[in-house]
Amino acid sequence: MFNLLCNKLNQRNLEEILISNDFIDIYKIANNIRKQYKGDYVHIRALIEFSNICKSHCYYCGLRCENNKVQRYRLSEKQILRNVEFSVKSGYKTIVLQSGEDLFWDSDKLCALIKQIKKYDIAITLSIGERSYEEYKAFKAAGADRYLLRIETTDKNLYRELHPNMSFDNRINCLYNLKSLGYETGTGCIVGLPNQSIESLAQDIMFFKDLNADMVGIGPFIPHPDTPLADADNNNFDSALKVTALTRIVLPDINIPATTAMESLKPNGRITALNSGANVVMINVTDNDYKNKYEIYPNKVCLNSINDILAAGRKISQSKGFRKDKN
Ligand code: SF4
Repeated sequence: MFNLLCNKLNQRNLEEILISNDFIDIYKIANNIRKQYKGDYVHIRALIEFSNICKSHCYYCGLRCENNKVQRYRLSEKQILRNVEFSVKSGYKTIVLQSGEDLFWDSDKLCALIKQIKKYDIAITLSIGERSYEEYKAFKAAGADRYLLRIETTDKNLYRELHPNMSFDNRINCLYNLKSLGYETGTGCIVGLPNQSIESLAQDIMFFKDLNADMVGIGPFIPHPDTPLADADNNNFDSALKVTALTRIVLPDINIPATTAMESLKPNGRITALNSGANVVMINVTDNDYKNKYEIYPNKVCLNSINDILAAGRKISQSKGFRKDKN
């Protein structure tokens, strides 16, 4: 049954499941597949949000450059390395360096930073947006292991509406460039955007499969009051959970985070996601002075504890948590 589902689900099946309220117990199936392929281990990623400065205009994001209510910050290399040292001492095996599209951090500066961090025995994931092939190549040569770049939506028209001055085709190119350079490549989507169709959500999942994504992060849309989408609906937890479960079914061995947006929308949302196909959790290790200024969506929950994960019967992985790692 599991393998049949993994191999055979197509666009139409996905649409039918997404539209249905009681089609099958996909959460249970996704949880079983997660257990079969990834075990009970949860990979912890230490998240460092090192700059909230961004040149982009994404309609859904509180960090968009037009939002002048945000207090902007950019951590120095020294501050970032302090967060890295804390992560290493805490036993985390991967750090995620995340920022807005901040071009202050050019290729030379980032490569120097990556080399500093690689002196520690820790994997590096970059999440810094669209860059050229040459820059991606340089970051990889400097030691970066993984890269996160969410496609956000595969509906081209919706993508254009929500991302002024950005190119859908360029984003796709970036993802295939990352893959070709040997990064473990992460992507993902937002679920519940205004005018987003069921067809396009199914298409998102098919895209993750076509790309053979190594990681997929799915976040429910949460409107930010200081963006053009401030008045949009906010009731997207269940749909995001369904897309998470279906992604696990379609790509059984990949890494799927229980996103902080899930927890922000529903108490215990992180555990619910872990029980519906997810196997990764981000712990925010950015200094407290800055954490709350990285507000892509409002009321972001910054998780510092793993106790609820252990209480839910899961184990904390001691590996770097690559796609092939089973523990
Ligand atoms: S989603 Fe990313 S690129 Fe878009 S405005 Fe926000 S921080 Fe910038």
